[in-house]
Amino acid sequence: MIREVTGIRKIRMLYLQLLYRCNFTCLHCFHGKRLQYADAFTADEAACLLTLMRDEYGTEEVTLLGGEPFVYRDLPQVVHHAKEALGQRVEICTNGYRIERRLKEIAPHLDLLRVSLEGVGSTNDGIRRHGSYQSALNALSLARDLGVPTGATMTVTSRNIGEVLPLAGIMARLGVQQLKLHHLRPVGNAADHPELLVTGPAAYGRLREELAAANLPLEVIVDEDLSEHGAPQLCAPTGGPREIDRIEADPRGALTMSCKAVGKDSHAFWYEKSAGRIVHQPSASDELTLAVPDVVYARA
Ligand code: SF4
Repeated sequence: MIREVTGIRKIRMLYLQLLYRCNFTCLHCFHGKRLQYADAFTADEAACLLTLMRDEYGTEEVTLLGGEPFVYRDLPQVVHHAKEALGQRVEICTNGYRIERRLKEIAPHLDLLRVSLEGVGSTNDGIRRHGSYQSALNALSLARDLGVPTGATMTVTSRNIGEVLPLAGIMARLGVQQLKLHHLRPVGNAADHPELLVTGPAAYGRLREELAAANLPLEVIVDEDLSEHGAPQLCAPTGGPREIDRIEADPRGALTMSCKAVGKDSHAFWYEKSAGRIVHQPSASDELTLAVPDVVYARA
C-alpha cells in the first residue's frame, strides 16, 4: 500500500517499537504518557510485519526498540526470526539496565547493541534513572566481551551538551564503535521539561567545532538539526518510485517515515496486525499531507 500511494519501492530499515512499556521514565522521552500504554506486538505479529517488509519492500535491517525491548518477554523469538528466518541485520536499542542475562541469550543473533546514555555519571542518572549509568556501562562491557558490536546514542540537551566529548572518550575506551547524537524534540516528556532545550544554536556550533577538532577514535553521527543554522531540508516521501532509509512502527501498528513525525500521531499508514497488511489512512495532519521532512544525519 505504501508503494501504491507514494511510489516507494524499497525501505532499507524497519524500526520496530515492540512495546511502550519501559523500566525508565526519562525526562526527555518522546513517548510521554504512552509509556503507560499496554499496546505491544505479539511475537507472531512482529514476525509477520518483518516478513512483509522484507518481501514487499526489500527491508534488510531491523532495529528493535520500545519502550524498553529487554522487558519484552518474547525478544529472543523476534530476534531469532529476524536473523535466522529472514537473514536481517539485527540491532537493539536499549537503556542497558540490568540486561546481562537476556543479552547473553540473544548475543549470537545480534549485529549491534546500541545503548542510550545522556551524559557521564550523575548527569545521565538525573535524566534517566539512578544507577542507570553504571548499568549501561556494564551492558556495553558485556557485549564487547561477548563479541557483539556496540553503539551509543545521546540526546543533546542543556544539561549534557558539555559532556558529549567526555562521554565519547569513555565510549571509545569501552570499544563502542559509534556514538549517535540526537536533537531534542519537544514531544512527550520533553514537552514538560522546556529547561532541557538548548537555547541559542551557537552552542551547537561550538559543539560541532569541538567534535571536528577532537579526532575521536569512534564514529560520531550527528542529527544535522544540531547545528547553528539548522539542517538542510529534504523532500518528504511523496511521488515517484524510489527508496527510503527507514520506517518506524509503533506498538499500535502506526507507521511513520520521518523521524521528525515520530511520537506526533502524524502517520499516514498503519500496519493492521490482525489482517497482516498495511493500510493507508490519510488525514489533514499526516506526514505526507504536511510534507514533514526527515532528519538528516551526517558524520561529525
Ligand atoms: S527514553 Fe527510552 S529508556 Fe527512557 S523512558 Fe523512553 S523508552 Fe524508556
